[in-house]
Amino acid sequence: MLNIVIFGKPGAGKGTQAEFLKSKYNLTHISTGDLFRHHIVNKTSLGLKVTSILENGDLVPDKLTIEILENEVKKHKKTNGFIFDGFPRTINQAKKLDEFLKFLSMKISFTIALEAEDEILLLRLLKRGETSGRSDDTDKEKILNRFKEYTDKTFPLKEFYSKQNKFFSINGVGDIKVISKRLISIIENK
Ligand code: AMP
Repeated sequence: MLNIVIFGKPGAGKGTQAEFLKSKYNLTHISTGDLFRHHIVNKTSLGLKVTSILENGDLVPDKLTIEILENEVKKHKKTNGFIFDGFPRTINQAKKLDEFLKFLSMKISFTIALEAEDEILLLRLLKRGETSGRSDDTDKEKILNRFKEYTDKTFPLKEFYSKQNKFFSINGVGDIKVISKRLISIIENK
């Protein structure tokens, strides 16, 4: 089973590359951001709880996030593997993911971070905000808050996964197809 975590600050291209990997390796793509947005659109009780959190670009509390992730994994018993996009985002989430996968006799194969400068990401997000309909993509302050959440809470995962020899990073700037090739080269040279 191939279980990949794809990291990167907002706008790094995680969703786009996750979709590519999903079709190339026949994986199940789980984006916690998409799951939350689905609940928000459908005004479920979880959606109502997290609406303002997503709008402000803060992280949803771990307990809710881990729950939504585990439920989604359990729905896909027959899969070649998972591509986790936007999860884990905290050390606690990463530890819980390891425990949960171990319980299912699975494990993370490796993690790959898409690297890009904040200035480039900010421009990409503001551009995406023109069409995405995402309020967290249109306000510069909220975008900067999302970057800060990443730096404070998600960046430490680099050390967490490096200690397990599972952390890789690639340049996330350039043509989408070229970036996909960089990802393939990590995956196939493992
Ligand atoms: P994304 O689509 O990955 O950019 O996520 C959008 C928003 O969903 C984030 O800014 C957070 O508010 C929330 N979110 C998504 N994944 C997580 C996570 N693993 N932990 C906490 N909050 C999350």
